[in-house]
Amino acid sequence: MAALPDESRSPAVPTVAYRGRFAPSPTGDLHAGSLLAAFGSWLLARHADGAWLVRVEDLDPPREVPGAAQRQLDTLTAFGLASDEAIERQSQRHALYAQALDRLLADGRAFHCHCSRTDLAAAGGIHRRCVARAPRPNPAVRLRVEDHSLVAFDDAIQGAITQDVAHAVGDVVLRRADGHWAYQLAVVVDDAAQGITDVVRGADLLDSTPRQILLQRALGLPTPRYAHLPLVLGADGRKLSKSDAAWPVDPVRPLPALHDAWRRLGQPPAALEGASAVPDLLARARAAFDPALIPRGPRPDAQAGDSFHNR
Ligand code: GLU
Repeated sequence: MAALPDESRSPAVPTVAYRGRFAPSPTGDLHAGSLLAAFGSWLLARHADGAWLVRVEDLDPPREVPGAAQRQLDTLTAFGLASDEAIERQSQRHALYAQALDRLLADGRAFHCHCSRTDLAAAGGIHRRCVARAPRPNPAVRLRVEDHSLVAFDDAIQGAITQDVAHAVGDVVLRRADGHWAYQLAVVVDDAAQGITDVVRGADLLDSTPRQILLQRALGLPTPRYAHLPLVLGADGRKLSKSDAAWPVDPVRPLPALHDAWRRLGQPPAALEGASAVPDLLARARAAFDPALIPRGPRPDAQAGDSFHNR
């Protein structure tokens, strides 16, 4: 958000104390789960009078669907969810990731790794030491994760989360053997570079957060606050299959999908009743939104603790 000069503010006080974002990967059209993350992160940012940014995470060409990035942005526009600042694209930011990687390598925090999937199969895919049987022309680069790297953080919705990254994940891939940047490195670099204070996203990424925190520490970057939204479930209460979850939301009829996301966020449907168009619905949603009502939802793992609910 371009801050206007405001003489009444002390220059020491940042204009925006809250900076959130929505960071879709263009691997398909926006679906119910991604709309929940977009709308939920937008509502929390607006509730805090903060900025809300959109970042296109087009970092994985093998998984990218041609035209999907633009369709996702068009759908967001149809839903009235517009980025407060210029949209960054990860495909334009390779130099930043390279810089971070070089620093980790120079500090001895990262290392080249020739291990293949097959080499690591006996260890369940978890890398603790190199066991490569042959060198690879283009080794991966991994973050060295010390034994017993217990990371704890307080998620605003999911409560207290702990993970022993060494045990659960092992040495984290930063640059893949196919030469592409790993999501984990790019997201940490970009959240810091864009001054993101609050990461709000689906609970499917809860498991990635401890390794992102380790990476922030290794790079000397601040750790943002985290809030992981409930997963979108099917009518039978079970997690949506990949194909169900990939069912796109209809940009031509945004109101039903927004009502649905609002309900999944635990908010009272009556607050949006009678909304005739998107701007009207969003204004009502902003006014009525209560973060304390967001349900925790089923969690992939980890234990319960403090949250919006019992604070
Ligand atoms: N690009 C990731 C995805 O679409 C989300 C990244 C994030 O919110 O941290 O799943």
